[in-house]
Amino acid sequence: MTGTVSYWLADAEDGRSPRAPLDGDRSADVVVVGGGFTGLWTAWELLRREPSLDVVVLEAETVGFGASGRNGGWCSPGLGVSVAELARRTSPETARWTVEVLRATVDEVGRLTAEAGLDIGFRKGGILRVARGPHEVPSMHATLDDLAALGLAGGCDVLSPSALAERVHVAGALGALWDPHGAVLHPGRLVRGLARLVEDAGGTVHEGTTVERVEPGAHPAVVTPQGRVRASTVVLATEAWLSQLPGWTREVLPVYSLVVLTEPVPDELADRIGWKGDECLSSHRATVDYLSRTPDGRILFGGRGAPYHFGSAIDPAYDTHEETHAMLRRMLVDWFPDLGDIRFDAAWGGALGMPRDFMPSMWHDPATGIAAAYGYTGQGVTTARLSGRVLTDLILDGETPLADLPMVGHRPRRWEPEPLRWLGARLVQRGLQAVDDRAERTGEPPTGRTLAERLIRH
Ligand SMILES: Cc1cc2nc3c(=O)[nH]c(=O)nc-3n(C[C@H](O)[C@H](O)[C@H](O)COP(=O)(O)OP(=O)(O)OC[C@H]3O[C@@H](n4cnc5c(N)ncnc54)[C@H](O)[C@@H]3O)c2cc1C
Repeated sequence: MTGTVSYWLADAEDGRSPRAPLDGDRSADVVVVGGGFTGLWTAWELLRREPSLDVVVLEAETVGFGASGRNGGWCSPGLGVSVAELARRTSPETARWTVEVLRATVDEVGRLTAEAGLDIGFRKGGILRVARGPHEVPSMHATLDDLAALGLAGGCDVLSPSALAERVHVAGALGALWDPHGAVLHPGRLVRGLARLVEDAGGTVHEGTTVERVEPGAHPAVVTPQGRVRASTVVLATEAWLSQLPGWTREVLPVYSLVVLTEPVPDELADRIGWKGDECLSSHRATVDYLSRTPDGRILFGGRGAPYHFGSAIDPAYDTHEETHAMLRRMLVDWFPDLGDIRFDAAWGGALGMPRDFMPSMWHDPATGIAAAYGYTGQGVTTARLSGRVLTDLILDGETPLADLPMVGHRPRRWEPEPLRWLGARLVQRGLQAVDDRAERTGEPPTGRTLAERLIRH
């Protein structure tokens, strides 16, 4: 799979990419910058609601080139902020409602794509957060308690080691937190399918068209090497790449998440590890790990850990970090020792957007003509659909019934200038790794009191 961005995109060729770039100046009702989930859900929703609108999507590379074509396939109700922290920052009622909206959005992704005839491999298999040693057991119980305190624990449960073993055999597992509200999907088919839906609804998608500058104002416009597009509204949907746009460089921190992918697991091995369902798996590590199964029976193992690059740099060279990829391959075998000889067919990575307070933003400013949604902290598959709905409400109606969600109208505090940003990011990355290493070595849960843990409390 060398030379392609990810297995997902290689497995989702539909003959439409590469599309023609923008060809000269033009005007539109709405111009969307970025052909990922956020931009395409927004474009499609606008067209579903107002079929006469002239909507143009400009994508620098090809549709799905960003995180949308590279992720772990988790369609979960998670946010960058935990439910307990959300309740502290807002109120228990707002936290409960936010989670309920996100849970409903998971189902909405499955329903809307099915109704539109897209096969995105949507399977609502739930989520198992596995306690991979005594140090992770308290976190498993605490998370269930936090959900219960908000009246959100219905259907969720702590599974005993034997109950977990009926679903999957994970080495050293001492149980798992079961959450039925998540699904797994094929992100490549979703992102490419959404682009087709936009076109079929009358929108235009240009690939190979990089927006170099955004001009806010009464008549906003975007400037590309191929021409200028004037529109009533400009939608910024570039997630990690927002940090590369002049004027927006400190809104999100581009953080790399990396992935390895096995061959289709042979039946005999699949029987031994027992993972036959469609659950998404993770542990309770501070440094984040995530596993899912592809429709053709491969296992995807992802994690953060690749270093932050000075000046918020994003470069295709950073999609591969051999040290991190080797670590992920070892971690998968540590989860499933039976896979010691499994072949790995692919490895890739991508940048996700981390806002200063880990809370996504969805807003529209009629005075500047700019609308934007970003800052999903690696949890954007579900939330980007919600962004599409909220931005459409705000652009077409000037208001949304979802206005009280904490991400609507939210503008995060900006990240520090360099070199502080680099020092802080590297300190947190190293600190969290040390927290996990210590917990695994001693069997003691993290204290939550290290500098790194306090800096990223969310
Ligand atoms: C490895 C990895 C694993 C992940 N796993 C999960 C997961 O399992 N579940 C989950 O919920 N989330 C996950 N995420 C996060 C999730 O994929 C993102 O939050 C989501 O895809 C963001 O969608 P988006 O459309 O906002 O941004 P993107 O998909 O990043 O799209 C932005 C697009 O804008 C384009 N662009 C950038 N600059 C310009 C410009 N100047 N002009 C024109 N176009 C431009 C880019 O090429 C890109 O295609 C993961 C992310 C990564 C990287």
